[in-house]
Amino acid sequence: MRAFSYERATSPEAAAAAAIATPGAKFIAGGTNLLDLMKLEIETPTHLIDVNGIGLDTIGDTDEGGLRIGALVRNTDLAAHPRVRRDYGVLTRALVAGASGQLRNKATTAGNLLQRTRCPYFYDTNMPCNKRNPGSGCAAIEGVSRQLGIIGTSDACIATHPSDMAVAMRVLDATVETTDAEGATRSIPIADFHALPGDTPQVENALEPGEIITAVTLPAPIGGRHAYHKVRDRASYAFALVSVAAVVQSDGSGRVALGGVAPKPWRVEGAEAALPEGASAAMAGILAEANPTEHNAFKVALAERTLAAVLAAPQE
Ligand code: SF4
Repeated sequence: MRAFSYERATSPEAAAAAAIATPGAKFIAGGTNLLDLMKLEIETPTHLIDVNGIGLDTIGDTDEGGLRIGALVRNTDLAAHPRVRRDYGVLTRALVAGASGQLRNKATTAGNLLQRTRCPYFYDTNMPCNKRNPGSGCAAIEGVSRQLGIIGTSDACIATHPSDMAVAMRVLDATVETTDAEGATRSIPIADFHALPGDTPQVENALEPGEIITAVTLPAPIGGRHAYHKVRDRASYAFALVSVAAVVQSDGSGRVALGGVAPKPWRVEGAEAALPEGASAAMAGILAEANPTEHNAFKVALAERTLAAVLAAPQE
């Protein structure tokens, strides 16, 4: 691990100002991803800004009947919150499907959104990786790509986003709130928050330098049956091969988002009209532009079967 300096911020604006003032700085909260990346020298921040003391660790109702989740709310607390369990069950189920209890106790709402891919070549500093070292190439495209993306990928990167929580938030139409050093705020729909790789896979989200996430807001509840089904190689401590977050209404209409298949939570609203016709019809639209490799072509059928299982299941 490389040497770095460290400070504790006392407000979101102060944290943002410190990030602007110190090139190479990173925010740290739970540290469940960043510390691993630093030990492997994939991330080499010169300065860490500890944001654990800036507040932002509460959950409250919004005037519109929704929920405002502070950026530093721990995943365990979010999953267990009574309103999340009652009104946003897909979110509780996705959170509980992620990582281990110990990690959920430390991991934060904002950090979960910002966690980096688990592409094995990203973690191997002997291999070319456009995301870790822009312009160096992508070892995964001609390599072992079983875990990697089938849609939304590019010739530069086929990595997936690893978050379960974000997939549920995408189906719930969450909004990411931010602030900068001057206190200027932004509200970014989660659909626009994560970036597709294109030619710049190192750019992973819509945050500007120094901008910090303050909260995630959920709209008023939409009812329906909430489900999150995660298919993985082992029952715990594994990332999704395919996951399906769904909210299904009694007439068969609903919303669907996929995890484990794309660089961001993958939802195609236009394809959801086909949901009452069944998983095959809906998935044909959702994955209309899928471009799998020979190693991960199985994900197309797996996604359809996972959605079929979700649609056939009784209320969990
Ligand atoms: Fe790097 Fe993306 Fe290629 Fe993986 S898929 S090696 S993260 S460029």
